[in-house]
Amino acid sequence: MYQEHQIAYIGLGSNEGDRKAYLCQAIALLEQHPQIKLLKLSHFYQTEPLTLNQEVQKSYLNAALEIRSHLNAVRLLQFLQEIENQLGRIRTHRWGPRTIDLDLLLFGNEIIRSKNLTIPHPELHRRRFVMEPLVEIAPQFIHPIKGKSMTQLLQGLTDNKKVKALYQFQLCHSSEGVIKTPYKERL
Ligand code: ATP
Ligand code: CA
Ligand code: CA
Repeated sequence: MYQEHQIAYIGLGSNEGDRKAYLCQAIALLEQHPQIKLLKLSHFYQTEPLTLNQEVQKSYLNAALEIRSHLNAVRLLQFLQEIENQLGRIRTHRWGPRTIDLDLLLFGNEIIRSKNLTIPHPELHRRRFVMEPLVEIAPQFIHPIKGKSMTQLLQGLTDNKKVKALYQFQLCHSSEGVIKTPYKERL
């Protein structure tokens, strides 16, 4: 069945190996999907890891991406997981170190609560490492449950873990006239 396109936001994170390369490879693989169009990419951010039991882990690189897609949310999550597998993610424990983590943060205005998929991502509005990059690319987007914009949610955050933007923000126009951050040039 033909599915209307949706705007979706993806949170990317890496804290193992060549973190920058993993983020870029994930973005390149997303771009290669015929039903996914990249619209906006945030800066990359260096962020303090979230860990269990005081485990010591390397800092993360995080970013947020806006896409347009005809895939439904379940198929999109499956594709994100395929990319994680392709980039050698090994699942150890929750919040364990990973080469790449791709979370589906928002999927249009949809609210989904199923066993394998919760949309909006349940922790999104509590995490500075997600909200800072997201506000860059979607400041006015309204959280479908909270009824607040991403900017308002960022202002209300109590998470004080360190989050530092790494690169200057640059915009250009793609061949289709879509504003897109030239991520390759920024690395
Ligand atoms: P967190 O979800 O707190 O960020 P995590 O990213 O480390 O933790 P994972 O091990 O990557 O968690 O994912 C665990 C499961 O979460 C996945 O198997 C997936 O089915 C489920 N999941 C539910 N909602 C989402 C979502 N919106 N985006 C990504 N995964 C989701
Ligand atoms: Ca995650
Ligand atoms: Ca995840």
